[in-house]
Amino acid sequence: MTVTLERPQQLATPLVEVRDLKHVYGGGRGRPGLVVLDDVDLTLNPGEIVGLLGRSGSGKSTLLRSIAGLITPTAGSVTVRDVPGDDAAHGVAMVFQSFALFPWLTVQKNVELGLEAQGVPADARRQRSLAAIDLIGLDGFENAYPKELSGGMRQRVGLARALVVQPSILLMDEPFSALDVLTAETLRTDLLDLWSEGRMPIRSILLVTHNIEEAVLMCDRILVFSSNPGRVIAEIKVDLPQPRKRLDPAFRALVDDIYARMTAKPSGAPAREGLFPGTGLGMALPHISTNTLAGMMETVAGAPGAKNELSALARELQLEVDELLPIAETLQLMRFAEVVGRDIRLTPAGKRYADADVDQRKQIFAQHVIAYVPLAAHIRRVLDDRASHQAPASRFRDELEDFMSETYAEETMDAIITWGRYAEIFAYHEDDDRFSLDNPA
Ligand code: ATP
Ligand code: MG
Repeated sequence: MTVTLERPQQLATPLVEVRDLKHVYGGGRGRPGLVVLDDVDLTLNPGEIVGLLGRSGSGKSTLLRSIAGLITPTAGSVTVRDVPGDDAAHGVAMVFQSFALFPWLTVQKNVELGLEAQGVPADARRQRSLAAIDLIGLDGFENAYPKELSGGMRQRVGLARALVVQPSILLMDEPFSALDVLTAETLRTDLLDLWSEGRMPIRSILLVTHNIEEAVLMCDRILVFSSNPGRVIAEIKVDLPQPRKRLDPAFRALVDDIYARMTAKPSGAPAREGLFPGTGLGMALPHISTNTLAGMMETVAGAPGAKNELSALARELQLEVDELLPIAETLQLMRFAEVVGRDIRLTPAGKRYADADVDQRKQIFAQHVIAYVPLAAHIRRVLDDRASHQAPASRFRDELEDFMSETYAEETMDAIITWGRYAEIFAYHEDDDRFSLDNPA
């Protein structure tokens, strides 16, 4: 693995070039490890916003961290260059989904951190951080602490902290996905305005997202990323003029086209994780009862040896394979099981679940549904954020319908209601179609 920093001769030279990148987590000592990225090629040119669109767990963050130099990939090369003759901007900076602010530091101190690391003198640090805070619309909040800010404002701090080091390349890892819908949209628009008005020194942006509409809204070029292992499987140029409108037929057509590409299964490809159509919030979920999921885990746990053949299980449970697969896939999605070839095996969490009592089971299930089912986390976040701790279910159903048909959205809502109630992460009230935090502890 080589990371090269150089100053190119020609203007049209890409700012980032990733070639044959491979990354394996774990492994060694006879174990194969998890191949997260394989054969990844990517080019980022000056003047463009490029979207990297892929499912959860496909390795997007791993790729971004490799480009940022935060991890050393197993093999391949990453070359990062500055624009020749451009003294205003250097290197890369990253914005994280989780904001990653230090709670004990003020907004200004959080923004100054990157400059401190570069050894910039105190006076210049102050001036530059105030300018970045101003630019990003946080004027007047310099002395506030993160806990005093809304999610949207915190992410503005995250953005200011990236901008203050004057990078030529901005890497953004799902920067809007922890925000509510309206806040996210405002921040997207503000960022696009800053970009198109040339008010940031940044020469190019790489935006990781699992949201197709966000990619089409913001990007000049979209790279579709596959899972298991992650690699770029399609490149789509977005020629629609800015500002783009979500309801514009050309916009919708492009979203549908990308959706189809992402859900198309390569012919002959083995069944793998992430088989449900859609990604992230837009993932269509099969409505499977928690009894069925529990029964499946018990059956697999009770089988001799650590593995189990799916077809034999289907016979034992008197299910058609077509009925069994969504169950197996749901367990995979929640990381309770792995389907390897024709076998299904429980993960350590799946084994723990099978051995646990009723209350422990609920807790384990709650942790996994929040961690691995983005819609569950999203609903819970919205309920946590609202003073009333309640929200109409129609709000989430509408969001889903941006990604999928009404029928799928309905089934997905049924699934999330069943799982969320069982896990006691939220309550759902049939009479007025509403979520709340009433019953859960
Ligand atoms: P998400 O949409 O959830 O953010 P992602 O596309 O960013 O996912 P990564 O975070 O890059 O994906 O993770 C890719 C895979 O590598 C996942 O299966 C994840 O569990 C695994 N993984 C990530 N980091 C590590 C690590 N430090 N050690 C072992 N496995 C890891
Ligand atoms: Mg990620």
